[in-house]
Amino acid sequence: MAGLSFLERLKAGEILVADGATGTNLQARGLPTGTPTEAWLFDRPDEVVRLEREFVQAGADIILTNTFGGTAVKLQGHGWGERMAEVNRRAVELARQAVGDADVFVAGSIGPTGQLLKPMGSMEPEEAEAQFAAQARVLAEAGVDFLVIETQFDLGEATAAVKGVRSVCSLPLVVSFSYDRGTRTMMGVRPQKMAQEMSALDVDVLGINCGRSLDDNLSALQELAASARLPIWFKPNAGLPKLDEENRPIYDVTPEMMGAYTNTWIAEGARIVGGCCGTTPQHLQAIATVVKNR
Ligand SMILES: [Zn+2]
Repeated sequence: MAGLSFLERLKAGEILVADGATGTNLQARGLPTGTPTEAWLFDRPDEVVRLEREFVQAGADIILTNTFGGTAVKLQGHGWGERMAEVNRRAVELARQAVGDADVFVAGSIGPTGQLLKPMGSMEPEEAEAQFAAQARVLAEAGVDFLVIETQFDLGEATAAVKGVRSVCSLPLVVSFSYDRGTRTMMGVRPQKMAQEMSALDVDVLGINCGRSLDDNLSALQELAASARLPIWFKPNAGLPKLDEENRPIYDVTPEMMGAYTNTWIAEGARIVGGCCGTTPQHLQAIATVVKNR
């Protein structure tokens, strides 16, 4: 369905394939742990483009920009606060380069700020909103097709993110939470509550990404599908990693296992499927093969 927008393709009933992980794959290719993935936008742009191109070749309809930590406050933790606009522009440019002429969407990834809102932390909701607005403005101006606020765990921060995005653009918007505690986020939020609060905002798609295990993520998906009235985005991680002797993460979930789950995810209501941490291009290909052969 070439030429149609993201929301038009969803409306037409198509199941779309999103990409796999950015961070864990770049780490497996040499990005030192603790170095932000955004550093490779400048140091190893060839590796960023190569990974994104591998996801396209594996069958992804959507590539997320390497801007998960792209708010100024998050980049500031690495001394890059001043480079927020440059980082986000560069990431869109590289994603477009990777996609080339393929009929693949480039979605702007927006992750948490890394700061907790008051009263748990010290950030005012207005400040969080301004941080998200600034990043979203750069991503939108650089030409992304839509935006994905992902790996959220706190309703307050996610609300600030949506409001920030909506203060600067009207692009299609996905909001995705991570259920690190099974079917609860780190802050104890359940999918049903997330659906209720986020659906009251100007959001187009509700999502689940990262999380704990494939089984837990499936339970979270079932809970979300029972209350969501919007299309569902679903990018579970390849389970939780074990660490090898050199502290490198090892993921047990194989591409075959993720492929074997894919039809169940779709049957349970997922409209966009992909993978989060630990999901390699091989995992993504297993998922995409199931989707394309339905
Ligand atoms: Zn993840």
